[in-house]
Amino acid sequence: MMMANVIGHKQPKMILQNALAEGRVAHAYLFHGPEGVGKTTLAKAFANTLLCREGTGDACGECSICRRFAKGGLPDFFLVEPQGNNIKIEQVRELQKTASFKPYEASRKVYLISRAETMTRDAANCLLKILEDPPPDTIFLLTAVNPYNLLPTIVSRCQLVTLGKVPQQEIEQFLSDNNRGDPETAVLLATLCNGLPGKAWSMAEPDQGLKTRELVFQLYERIKKGDISELLKKAEEFEKNKEIMPEVLEQLLLWYRDQLIWKETSDKSLIINIDKIEELKTDSEYKDKSYLIKSIQNILEAKMQISRNVNFRLTLEVLMLRLAECA
Ligand SMILES: [Zn+2]
Repeated sequence: MMMANVIGHKQPKMILQNALAEGRVAHAYLFHGPEGVGKTTLAKAFANTLLCREGTGDACGECSICRRFAKGGLPDFFLVEPQGNNIKIEQVRELQKTASFKPYEASRKVYLISRAETMTRDAANCLLKILEDPPPDTIFLLTAVNPYNLLPTIVSRCQLVTLGKVPQQEIEQFLSDNNRGDPETAVLLATLCNGLPGKAWSMAEPDQGLKTRELVFQLYERIKKGDISELLKKAEEFEKNKEIMPEVLEQLLLWYRDQLIWKETSDKSLIINIDKIEELKTDSEYKDKSYLIKSIQNILEAKMQISRNVNFRLTLEVLMLRLAECA
């Protein structure tokens, strides 16, 4: 996989490729940024580039190593991922063992430790020992949503690669190049995903994001009607489907955000849910600015509480009552 084919992240790609061109490759890198931004994708492309036989600053895609990398059978590339919820000590011990061997085919070995923040305390301490005295010709690429969830002593041994949002147009192009939905859907997903190509990609999956979106609008209709007992029943239903809740709240948030922006600017180019513009015009008209701001704050608060595992059902019930109030 070539780095040139990874969308977005212009600056981080340039920094990595310059380091390679100037022979200043660090022992360890930590790719961090929001879920779906492309941390593992970029780390994999960088790993491939580090291993490629041609060594031209990007993977050539044609040498024997690049071909084996693409097929997933290169013995000098190791992917460490959580087993269940965590990366366990046994996995890091295994890594420690293989790290002492010489590279097999390439001139170096690369370990990609995906979701490094899921390492158990023992696993993290074991990795720290390896990073303190890194074996020769071995490079570690870690990915994490938030570096603060890792041991500071691990973070300080890594060069940080910060990944920010990807421009909407690049995501749109990427979706249509890969036949993820018709052109209209590609535009919609590229706006809804908020700069996260991984999210747009999974939303394009049948039965995924767009279905969640339908659910969000059904919920919104009930909020509008102020149908309290229906809303409380919904909260009960969502309790059984906890995993979709962050996405439901995210999309609900974008919808209230759109109403506020439309009310204040009437500028179509600033709207995310572009396919719902007519509904947006009618709905934002009779709502107060202060109600919309308050609703946004309430959704944000619920998102935060759910991410902290505060009482799920209660959080949702309170949110729905608050949103239905004066809706
Ligand atoms: Zn190559």
